[in-house]
Amino acid sequence: MSLLEKLKAGFQRFMAGRRGADELSLALLISGVVLSMLSSIFHLRIVYLLSLALYAFAMFRMLSRNLEKRYAENAAFLNFWRKTSLSVRQFFNRMKNIRKYKYFKCPECKTRLRLPRGVGEVTMTCGKCRHAFKQKA
Ligand SMILES: [Zn+2]
Repeated sequence: MSLLEKLKAGFQRFMAGRRGADELSLALLISGVVLSMLSSIFHLRIVYLLSLALYAFAMFRMLSRNLEKRYAENAAFLNFWRKTSLSVRQFFNRMKNIRKYKYFKCPECKTRLRLPRGVGEVTMTCGKCRHAFKQKA
């Protein structure tokens, strides 16, 4: 067995029962890299320390044997990420179409609705809660 094979086998033994990198750990590492770049550009020591804390937390998560807890953290992160990226995409979509549509929220359930601009005042019914109300567009 060559030295490289021994090192590889040793690493595999070390990582047995550990999850390694998941999405949250990768996000922590990427955030740490971005923060350490910002800290070196703007000479901010506190941001540098924060980036080190992110690296440490990412390493802790990758080497942890408490798989159940790490899995739950990652699931919560993925849920947060999905919701955030959806609302960012919706925001940019609204900005793209803001000349074509007037956007507003249902007065009852706060669902976001839209009307083509220039239709005047219309009575509309919310698709979610069936509340009818007058709206200008
Ligand atoms: Zn509604």
